[in-house]
Amino acid sequence: MSDRQMSSAPPPSLRPGSGLREYDFYKVIQDYLDRAAKIAKVEPYVSTILSQPKNEIIVNFPVRMDTGEIRLFKGYRVQHNNLLGPFKGGMRYHPQVALDDVKALAAMMTWKSALLRLPFGGGKGGIKFDPHSVSRHELQRITRRFTHALGENIGPEYDIPAPDVGTNGQTMAWMMDTYSNMVGSNQKQMVKGVVTGKPVASGGTLGRQKATGQGLVYCILEWAEEKAFNLEGSTMLVQGFGNVGSNTAVILSKLGVSMVAVGDHTGYLYNPEGLNAHKLQDYVEIHGSIAGYPGGKAITREEFFSTKADIFAPCALENQIGEAEAKSLDVKLIAEGANGPCNPTGERLALEKGIDILPDVLANAGGVTVSYYEWVQNKRSETWSEEEVDARLEVAMKRAYREVSEQARARKCDLRLAAYSIALQRIEAVYKEREIFP
Ligand code: NAD
Repeated sequence: MSDRQMSSAPPPSLRPGSGLREYDFYKVIQDYLDRAAKIAKVEPYVSTILSQPKNEIIVNFPVRMDTGEIRLFKGYRVQHNNLLGPFKGGMRYHPQVALDDVKALAAMMTWKSALLRLPFGGGKGGIKFDPHSVSRHELQRITRRFTHALGENIGPEYDIPAPDVGTNGQTMAWMMDTYSNMVGSNQKQMVKGVVTGKPVASGGTLGRQKATGQGLVYCILEWAEEKAFNLEGSTMLVQGFGNVGSNTAVILSKLGVSMVAVGDHTGYLYNPEGLNAHKLQDYVEIHGSIAGYPGGKAITREEFFSTKADIFAPCALENQIGEAEAKSLDVKLIAEGANGPCNPTGERLALEKGIDILPDVLANAGGVTVSYYEWVQNKRSETWSEEEVDARLEVAMKRAYREVSEQARARKCDLRLAAYSIALQRIEAVYKEREIFP
């Protein structure tokens, strides 16, 4: 597996158009929970329990850098809920990783797992640093030391990390190797499932690399069928050209969707004839970003957001579509590959303009779904074909889409609240059966 996903520098800001730091992602997710709890009519005690994560782990650990200097790193693992199964969720390496954002992302994993009927709960973690500012050897030592510091807080039946922004299959291989050296030698072979998103040779599954993009495309296909929209010959904008963005673009381009504009942390490119997603993916693999790609004209972020297209796939970070961006957007659909790309104002304005939004907890759940397939294969010592993985993913994503769409119609709410409310109902049903200890 390549290091492509680690190759982008930190964003100038998480805040659309400004340097604001006060965006409270956790509060936003909390508000969705409160609104969805009313729609789903869940018992107040259920939303009270789910309003805070079960565990918030912070570890500070020293790492020897290449210069011999010792640096202290801060790592997080938030374990939101494990009622339905082990905590599950990605590890993010980014300079703006902060506890409240990780709490928000961990809660979203709980909703995703429940919505996709996976036997998992939700978790998320990461380290506050820029992975592009260190050497490969340093990255390996940071990852191993973090895994060691987490110790028994992770495990194949307890809490299972996966890749997210700034991490990839290589990161997972180091984590698995470190963890397997922390258990008895007679258990090493049993703990491959401590992480998912591993390279295939190290126990990963075929189809995981593209899984989030593939799942997003299955949702877009369902949306297109529901709206009688012909994807062939349509156009898309893609923000973020890492794992999720590039795979989404490549798969959609095979369905005849032309990428007229694309952007990452280095800037934005436009080509009315369509940017070649395959070639751009290869370019980013080598150069680490879209900067300097000859197939398009450089445009500003503002111009990107006002480029007319049919589909917009935000696949970078949270809080990218605010008031200004929503007012500029001239698209039919926002398909959320990223977690939390629309802020509440951006979401409201987009919906008021008649733009459909496929919400993150549904739209990007293909990653955790295929992570589940990887975990099952590890448990059973099986290797499934890519066709089998894709076929299962298609059934799971399309079923979830239809359930969310039906719930939105029945409860007269938007798709995001429908998705949250289904997840809440499923979790509530288990709390009612098991009741609260003691
Ligand atoms: P990645 O690190 O592979 O790619 C991130 C991309 O976003 C890069 O192209 C980067 O340049 C770009 N980016 C960063 N800051 C930006 C900015 N300010 N403006 C524009 N572009 C910017 O990460 P990824 O794994 O593709 O994750 C992207 C999003 O998808 C995140 O929100 C993540 O939580 C979510 N997600 C990922 C997975 C997965 O399986 N990897 C699954 C579900 C959801």
